[in-house]
Amino acid sequence: MAGKVGGLDIPSCDSCNKPALLEQAYSGRVLCGQHLAKSIRKKIAKELRKQLILKKGQETTIFVAISGGKDSAVLLETLVDILGVRPDVKIIAGTVDEGIDGYRPPSLKCAEDLCKSLGVEFITISYKELGFEEMDTVAKLIPGMTKNNPGAPGMPCSYCGVFRRQGINHLAKKVNADVMALGHNLDDMAQTVLMNMSNGDLERTLRLAPHTNTPIDGLPPRIVPLRWIPEQEVHLYAVHKNLPIHHEECPHARGALRWRHREMVATMEADVPGTRHGLLRMADNVKELRNQIIELGGHQSRPSPPKECPVCSSITSNDQCKACEMRAMVKNELAN
Ligand code: SF4
Ligand SMILES: [Zn+2]
Ligand SMILES: [Zn+2]
Repeated sequence: MAGKVGGLDIPSCDSCNKPALLEQAYSGRVLCGQHLAKSIRKKIAKELRKQLILKKGQETTIFVAISGGKDSAVLLETLVDILGVRPDVKIIAGTVDEGIDGYRPPSLKCAEDLCKSLGVEFITISYKELGFEEMDTVAKLIPGMTKNNPGAPGMPCSYCGVFRRQGINHLAKKVNADVMALGHNLDDMAQTVLMNMSNGDLERTLRLAPHTNTPIDGLPPRIVPLRWIPEQEVHLYAVHKNLPIHHEECPHARGALRWRHREMVATMEADVPGTRHGLLRMADNVKELRNQIIELGGHQSRPSPPKECPVCSSITSNDQCKACEMRAMVKNELAN
């Protein structure tokens, strides 16, 4: 059924007669804001049942990495909604301040406001406090670094991703987290799968979160409860629930390889709805195959045993971890 809203033909929700907010091409469903929110919450609760193992009689601390953006806001709001009532679950949220002028201060404020409104403890740490240079400085140093160091990454996100991971791990450790929750949506996950496959990077495909049954050494298992929710739906949910979210994009984001994959996945999804789900299922199947091989007594996937980084004690498969290697390169460039 369709109705007229402001002179436009708007289809009606397939669960009630209200004007629809979304037509899900991949499922054929048509949903109003309320029913979309209901279906998203149901999908997240289902994922949580699969990904989150709560130990009987023990408290579980979940550290939720939030950025001030829509994905992690929806993640935190739904986690509080679904698990907040449980006395055996403690939820703490935190943000890493990368030092990006014009982008991080307002998004940090959104993250803080969200936590206040949900009654969640909020913690932060900055790149400076972690011993890294601020991202605005790193971005300025990149031309020099790529000139002086063969193989140095040419895009800010390559440094930022590595530094931020250390920051998130640091915050999770600080609160003794048992589990770390990340706000990756279906589009993010599909882009990552495609990127890893284009690189022939099986190791990263196998290490892709959720880590429920395969914790990565020394780190609390990461869960990604939004992994089946498309980005557009996460956004509609955030707006529907009126969550405080920062809409601006990081000034360093453009040009990153992820943008190319983002466009590719979006084009493929528009042509063949369900492509994103297919990419993610492919990664799940590869991980499942690995688990079956391990169960049969085959080799573990990791080629070399993990060691502790001599500088920061993080687990690494090399002599020094990537973050310390990049930190040294940046410091070197700054001193020149
Ligand atoms: S877009 Fe890149 S530089 Fe900006 S915050 Fe994200 S990872 Fe960091
Ligand atoms: Zn409805
Ligand atoms: Zn290190």
